[in-house]
Amino acid sequence: AAVLDLAAIRADFPLLGEKVNGQPLVYLDSGATSQKPQAVLDAEISFLTHANSAVHRGAHTLAAEATELFEDARLTVAGFVGARPEQLVWTSGATAGLNLVAYSIGNASVGRGAPASAGFALRPGDEIVVTETEHHANLIPWQELAARTGAILRHIPVHDDGTLDTDAAAALITERTRVVAFTHVSNVLGIVNPVVELVALARAVGALTVLDACQSAPHLPLDLPALGVDLAVFSGHKMLGPYGIGGLYGRSEVLEALPPFLTGGSMITTVTLDEAQYLPPPQRFEAGTQPVSQAIALAAAVRYLDGVGMDAVHAHEKALEARMGAGLRSIPGIRLLGDAATGAATGNGAATGSPERVGLWAFDVDGVHAHDVGQFLDARGVAVRVGHHCAQPLHRRFGLTASVRASSAIYNTDADVDTFLDALSGVRSFFGAGS
Ligand code: PMP
Repeated sequence: AAVLDLAAIRADFPLLGEKVNGQPLVYLDSGATSQKPQAVLDAEISFLTHANSAVHRGAHTLAAEATELFEDARLTVAGFVGARPEQLVWTSGATAGLNLVAYSIGNASVGRGAPASAGFALRPGDEIVVTETEHHANLIPWQELAARTGAILRHIPVHDDGTLDTDAAAALITERTRVVAFTHVSNVLGIVNPVVELVALARAVGALTVLDACQSAPHLPLDLPALGVDLAVFSGHKMLGPYGIGGLYGRSEVLEALPPFLTGGSMITTVTLDEAQYLPPPQRFEAGTQPVSQAIALAAAVRYLDGVGMDAVHAHEKALEARMGAGLRSIPGIRLLGDAATGAATGNGAATGSPERVGLWAFDVDGVHAHDVGQFLDARGVAVRVGHHCAQPLHRRFGLTASVRASSAIYNTDADVDTFLDALSGVRSFFGAGS
């Protein structure tokens, strides 16, 4: 994987030089949260040191400067996903963005914002379709919305190799379907879902599409308008940016018709004691004081990613994924989730070739609990994630309660992968579970 100048990239990430348990850190937990380059840390500190002020308010010089930096950040981050600035709503993260959408549809369903938003209203018996692979953040808000409106939640299953059952999707998405919400890349399987195909199925029945782009935005070139989705969310902290900031992209017609979720200051034009007129999007969805320094630092993060080039990032991580996958398959007793070669043989077994992936593998080690694997690797300086990764239904589908997940980012090297594989190859004999 010699596409990137990794020595230079790694030098930009101060934390990667740290030691953990006396060992050089091998950070393979970027699926949970990424490390941040110095440029991102500097952008946040610099704003707070030199320009901090309330945006969109006050006539003083600092306020104007802060507003300009904040709106420039919107332009930059929107551009990163192929969108125009008015199509990007700041949120505190993907979870907040998905809840915003679900609650806005709920508001349309109880009559607020009608008639413009009437098209979004859910009635008893209407259907919301998700997939079996969703992170809880793109599942529970829909469960709650279904419970509030009387809508029915359905799910698209996955094959044993982790790919979505698109035949089932075609049968499930019907005239009753009002919303199709799905992840671009599963945070457990690392597989890139067929977005265009699912969007076409949803469009054909007039359903709204909601994409969870958390695990694709840091790793792939992303053009949300070209994908054709109505709405999409991502999280700053997973894409080299700070905590507490994320984005909700929406097609203009959709954002313009959707009623707000949170209400209050900064999202209105005229307010009387009885009622309020709302600003157009994106401000309509940005009630209250916004995460300004975080937005500016997220813009620095996407400039960093763009500086390297997302095609190069994707190619690099594909090579890491292939190296990791081959290494994991060669260690006895390891079962990869979402893999034709080692996947569980539990019905619904049609394999669909090799899907596109990001650098992420979750796996089970025969005879050793995921938490023990995690601690064993940690003692050797290797940071991975263990547990259900906020995807309990998907783990249940594969007969597991927990797995180990190794996930890469722009800054990982072949040496990181090899250190991880080398350490892992000793885990079963260490715990007396065979070699
Ligand atoms: N969706 C997916 C696919 C994720 O991986 C995550 C983060 N684990 C989320 C949603 C939620 O993101 P956040 O916690 O940043 O809101």
